[in-house]
Amino acid sequence: MDIAEPLRQGTSLIDPFGRHVSYLRVSVTDRCDFRCVYCMAEDMTFLPKKDILTLEELDRLCTAFVSRGVRKLRITGGEPLVRRDIMQLFRRLSRHLASGALEELTLTTNGSQLARYAAELADCGVKRINVSVDTLDPVKFHAITRWGDLSKVLTGLDAAAKAGLEVKINAVALKGVNEDEIDHMLVWSHERGYDLTLIETMPLGDIDGDRTDQYLPLSRVRASLMDRFTLEDIPYKTGGPARYVRVKETGGRLGFITPLTHNFCESCNRVRVTCTGTLFMCLGQEDAADLRAPLRASEGDDLLHAAIDEAIGRKPKGHDFVIDRVRAAPAVGRHMSVTGG
Ligand code: SAM
Ligand code: SF4
Repeated sequence: MDIAEPLRQGTSLIDPFGRHVSYLRVSVTDRCDFRCVYCMAEDMTFLPKKDILTLEELDRLCTAFVSRGVRKLRITGGEPLVRRDIMQLFRRLSRHLASGALEELTLTTNGSQLARYAAELADCGVKRINVSVDTLDPVKFHAITRWGDLSKVLTGLDAAAKAGLEVKINAVALKGVNEDEIDHMLVWSHERGYDLTLIETMPLGDIDGDRTDQYLPLSRVRASLMDRFTLEDIPYKTGGPARYVRVKETGGRLGFITPLTHNFCESCNRVRVTCTGTLFMCLGQEDAADLRAPLRASEGDDLLHAAIDEAIGRKPKGHDFVIDRVRAAPAVGRHMSVTGG
């Protein structure tokens, strides 16, 4: 922690259910160079620049949370690596790693810019990154991401390996799209020493399509994998909501994030901030607190801390995601690219 920033006394962030908030995800931009079908509509309207926190403001915000006991910081988006000068933010935040206040600084990325930034990320103290890859078929990849180029992502992954970054692959399970490819992705990931985490689609934000067509319950994927692989439950935790198994045949780890079939709220230790400084206490609820106004109202951080305290005081017990045909509208109106994954 910055010596100059006094620790708010006795001030860990504890929510009304006794959960210690120790994990912050920060979306640094709502923009992206991909348009994944489950995440965005093709024609998106992005926020005006004045609404977006500057890199200095993002640093102040993250630093305030670190001074309150946040130990893990995940930078996400949109696509975090398309934000101009984003490495300046990583560089500044790395001081909290050096001081020991922060245990982990990490990022979730689509990998398109990794070739350029992997070495610098490692130099800033980033050790592990999540890279989203839903398919290894270049044609399907282009169809899912609309604008993406798989070969660039693969080059980025090579750069990450060269820089010594540990990689976890995130794949959204999509019915009829990558369902038949999961075995292959599993073997491919584990051969390269990557963990693989499968994610169920979540009903966030309007997209140009029907989510019930995409939704593939991971209980089904897991049952199918068990015909060919031995999955052993392991207590491995990364601070996120994934449940992990060890795959006996490959020796690698496989995670499942199942917001719809399994409620993981009871151990939730995280909150999210958008690039406009809106704090969401729960990914699946609308309730939010504006941290941009207190950030901009004064140079000191007292107002900011007061707003954070007030918000954590109303972190809800859990979410209420439903995907069904009766409720055609998304359960939560904002896109994942707004809140960050
Ligand atoms: N652009 C970066 C990326 O794709 O990794 C970071 C932001 S993205 C919003 C973070 C994660 O959310 C990605 O792994 C993405 O696949 C996932 N995601 C996006 N929309 C989703 C949805 N509706 N349901 C489940 N996962 C979603
Ligand atoms: Fe962009 Fe990530 Fe959303 Fe895909 S999932 S559109 S890469 S923000």
